[in-house]
Amino acid sequence: MTDYKKIRIALDGPSGAGKSTIAKKIAEKLGIVYVDTGALYRTVGLYSIENGISADDVDSIKASLKNIDLRLAYEDGAQKVYLNGVDVGDRIRTPEASRYASAVSKIPEVRAFLLDVQRNIAAAGGVIMDGRDIGTVIIPDAELKVFMSATPEARADRRCKELAEKGMPQPYEDVLRDIIERDRNDREREASPCVPAPDAVQFINDDYGIEESADYIIGLIK
Ligand code: C5P
Repeated sequence: MTDYKKIRIALDGPSGAGKSTIAKKIAEKLGIVYVDTGALYRTVGLYSIENGISADDVDSIKASLKNIDLRLAYEDGAQKVYLNGVDVGDRIRTPEASRYASAVSKIPEVRAFLLDVQRNIAAAGGVIMDGRDIGTVIIPDAELKVFMSATPEARADRRCKELAEKGMPQPYEDVLRDIIERDRNDREREASPCVPAPDAVQFINDDYGIEESADYIIGLIK
């Protein structure tokens, strides 16, 4: 049996391409750890929400970083984020937290603040990390880099189903608008834009289900 203890897989791409669901499956099948880096940006956003800082108040968001102690833990294969000692749980999964995550991720100081925690986890190996700049910035020497995407409509469709399953249904038009807006933020920001690394495998998965996408990437890994 192949040993994946040291492998580092970077899985980047825009929101709603199914990265987290697919990465979780791959991690389970290969016995490695799934690292959700978006949760870190969401947690920085959550701190602003809970402290009355507006999403466009860049100075206050930057100043807030010194009050944030952020830790990641893996319990029974699930990632937990502790913000100043308290598990953030699903508070980072609301539409407001998504908007804030997108806003704070544009700030270079926020990205620098989250760099070490991500690199430390990557250094241990045996990980599949999903994000936007994993292959370009966090682990440019990853053993495998995949840039996975799908059309905005396909992604909005999937996100709607996911939110409904979680008991937080949203209208399709709102979800699509949000995805297009976040895509633009991710792609056009100056700090670590969401673009494929030159040596990433590009995978458009409109016509692939979750299992098929996971199997395709496992094929690449093998
Ligand atoms: O992946 P997820 O949708 O949870 O990420 C939340 C937000 O964090 C994204 O909209 C994106 O702007 C930002 N992000 C990022 N870099 C990462 C992961 C997420 O900029 N590596």
